[in-house]
This record gives sequence, structure tokens and C-alpha cells, in this order.
Amino acid sequence: MADNVKNSLYVGGCLCGAVRYEAEGAPIYTGHCYCVDCRKASGSGFIPFMGFASSAVRFSGQTRQFRSIAARGGEAVRNSCPICGGLVFGGEVGTHEWHTIYAGSLDDPTLFRPQMAIFTRGRPEWAVIPDGLTVFDGAPGG
Ligand SMILES: [Zn+2]
Repeated sequence: MADNVKNSLYVGGCLCGAVRYEAEGAPIYTGHCYCVDCRKASGSGFIPFMGFASSAVRFSGQTRQFRSIAARGGEAVRNSCPICGGLVFGGEVGTHEWHTIYAGSLDDPTLFRPQMAIFTRGRPEWAVIPDGLTVFDGAPGG
């Protein structure tokens, strides 16, 4: 974990507020994912993500789940709000041991400190990588 990752209470949710979360501590990993799936799912150039152990996060509200084959293999589960459609987090509550929270859903987005850029191959030029991130073509470490 990099020094600049903040130990804090990470609070956020979807656009309408029906889906909410609170995560405590410091994220295990943070970054921007430039994979095609994240681009398509978000309608944007990348998804900013924070990884937390499921024991550190509390979610409230019903979500709509979308499952797909993950870029790194296995199944990716994305949770969005069934009312407003806002994309909030990844992983299945009660099943997975960790969750990725999409940092754009934070109430205070200044808490987010991206460390790495992943799946940058195939990234369109306009999806800019901020200075100082560790860049991976594909999965981190690979
Ligand atoms: Zn909503």
C-alpha cells in the first residue's frame, strides 16, 4: 500500500441515493481500469476503483447485478442501482471476500488516490492516464 492511500471512512452511493456504502480503513489497492468492459459499463474512458475486504464494507439498498467474464478470467459482477442506473461496486455481497468500489460514487471524491493504471492496452488516446500511476498493459503484475 502506498503512503498516499488514505486511512479513512469512505462513504458514497449512487446518483439517487438508493444504494449506499461505507468502507472503513484504507483500500487494499486503487487505480484506474481501462479495459473494454469498464469503458462500456461506465460509458466513460475508465473506471476508477478501490479494493476493500468485504469485512470492511457495509452496503445498503438493493442492486441490479450484471455478470460477465472478467478480463483477468473468472466472473465479474457489477452492481448498479435499479432506480437511477448508477454503477456503484463490483462483487457479490455475502459471497466474495473483497469488493471493488467505483470511486466516482464517493461523496467526497478527493479521498481517492489512484495508484495503478491497468488494462491500458487498447485504451483510446483520450482516456488519459494521470502522471505517477504504475502502468500495466493487462492485469497488475502481468
Ligand atoms: Zn440510485
